[in-house]
This record gives sequence, structure tokens and C-alpha cells, in this order.
Amino acid sequence: MSSDTDDYLDGNAAAGELRDIFAMDVTAAEGQCAHCGATKRFAQAHLYMRGPGVVARCVVCQHVLLRLVNVRQRVFLDVRGMTYLSLDTSPLQESSR
Ligand SMILES: [Zn+2]
Repeated sequence: MSSDTDDYLDGNAAAGELRDIFAMDVTAAEGQCAHCGATKRFAQAHLYMRGPGVVARCVVCQHVLLRLVNVRQRVFLDVRGMTYLSLDTSPLQESSR
């Protein structure tokens, strides 16, 4: 007997879609600030690069949207400051035709 909780695949099933998304120019994406709800192009964020990593802050309320830190052979990406990130996939669809 199966239930709704059996209706899933493991994370590997998303590999193709995530590979496409992470190869895209994220600065062109629109993100929603988790603090004030403003939706702006990521390229409009205020970027601070003097620390050990990169911090992007909301242009409206200065809440941290994204933190990116390079430590040895690993990259840590913290995007919890954004409710979502919306990317235009039309270039992907055009290149797959
Ligand atoms: Zn904000």
C-alpha cells in the first residue's frame, strides 16, 4: 500500500534542472526580500565584498539577501534572505530547440 508520503524521488532527480539553473546569470534574476517583500532584480542589490565573502543586501531595507563564502575547496551559499529567486528560462528553451 502506498501513501502520499511514498510519492517522492531522492534529490538526484533534480540534477538536470538545477544544473541548468545554476549555470544561468543569477544577476538577471528577480528575488523577493524575505524581510520587506520587495521584488527586485538581483543586480540592483547592494553588494559588500570587503569581508571574507560576498554579502548582498536589499536595496529597499538593507536586509541580507545572500551570503557567499569561499573556504578552501568549498563554497557556502546562504540565500535565506530571499523568499524566492525567479529566473527567466527562455534562453535555455531557445538553446534546446
Ligand atoms: Zn528588503
